[in-house]
Amino acid sequence: MIDTTSPRKSIQKEIPLDVRLCDTCIGRLFSSTINQEDYAEVGRNIRIKEKMVSVSYEDCTLCEGLSNGKEHYISMVKQALEGYEYSTFLIGLHIHEDILSEEQRIMQLTDAAEKETLKNYLNRCIGLALEKELGKEVHFADPDIMVIIDTTFDVISLQIKSLFIYGRYQKYKRGIPQTKWFCRSCRGKGCRDCQYSGTRYDSSVEGLIADPFLKQTLGLDESFHGAGREDIDVRMLGNGRPFVLEIKQPQKRTIDFQSIQSQINKKYTDIISVHQLDYTQKETIARLKEAHFSKIYRVTFEGNHPIEKEKLKKVAQTLRGNTINQFTPTRVELRRAKMVRARKIYDCRVDEVNGNKAVYIIEAESGTYIKEIVTGDNGRTQPNISDLLGVPCIVCSLDVLEIKGE
Ligand SMILES: [Zn+2]
Ligand SMILES: [Zn+2]
Repeated sequence: MIDTTSPRKSIQKEIPLDVRLCDTCIGRLFSSTINQEDYAEVGRNIRIKEKMVSVSYEDCTLCEGLSNGKEHYISMVKQALEGYEYSTFLIGLHIHEDILSEEQRIMQLTDAAEKETLKNYLNRCIGLALEKELGKEVHFADPDIMVIIDTTFDVISLQIKSLFIYGRYQKYKRGIPQTKWFCRSCRGKGCRDCQYSGTRYDSSVEGLIADPFLKQTLGLDESFHGAGREDIDVRMLGNGRPFVLEIKQPQKRTIDFQSIQSQINKKYTDIISVHQLDYTQKETIARLKEAHFSKIYRVTFEGNHPIEKEKLKKVAQTLRGNTINQFTPTRVELRRAKMVRARKIYDCRVDEVNGNKAVYIIEAESGTYIKEIVTGDNGRTQPNISDLLGVPCIVCSLDVLEIKGE
């Protein structure tokens, strides 16, 4: 709909003398209809009627030619988005502060304050044109890609939404950390100490799982969020541990979970496996971090002389359903607040006895230090298996058999 009538007696008299406006800016600020697709024609009609001189886009003291730049930015954005997979996007336009304040000044002086701003107009037009041309949707709250057009420097930058992948992992081999540990000497840069790998260990659960995802999505980086973690020497068996893998700045968003799962599970048969892989939301990370899942452990320990089965059974009975108090263990005291933690032992039963060695199956509250229940950690954990048995014991191996509740 084209508005050919000027709503005012004389626009020219309202406009300060030092201001020269292009047809699009005149139409945008002085036609009675807003949100037009192109203000140029209505602006030209107003200009002719008002006998105002013609001003080229480049000479417009308000937009400095930006009103004429739509096609230019549209083709720049299309080029920047090439190679990316996405279904929604959003345009963010940066316009120089001087232009914005000059526009404010003119709008106030001419009583055009309720009209569409230059920024809004360009954003709207570029977004609409791109929706049509790309066949993608503008999404305001949570776009796959946010396109930032900096009109001052004529550059485009992309903010690409991370992909979040849920799954569960089992770890069959001891000696592998859950996450990448950076080398202490170089903090990840790579040095002689770490043979230029930047990490302290050759592999990690994080690395083994993330690599095929990074390859498939062409993401730039990742971060791994487990629902808790097991010690490096502890295996994670049973139904596995839930995790969320975040892929940062992915180029591809469609993932073949089946192929990645079988790829990982075949390649690392005796090391790790993954299952239940699927897309998830960022919020899942917080849910996993806050959750308190109780766990079932299998702990093998050894005394300095043979342990009687009857005694083991009695100790298990004492612990079952009881609450133990654990003062922050020596081995983690640099990383954890020093305090006494009360933890519930839901179940404890004898699984095996063999000379000096025995195996307990223990179900305990989230956050229980299992190794310390065995050793007593110099009396910091009370009660403990060594004291109850009257035999000092050390832990031979520990497995997580099940993480409950997720
Ligand atoms: Zn203009
Ligand atoms: Zn290093």
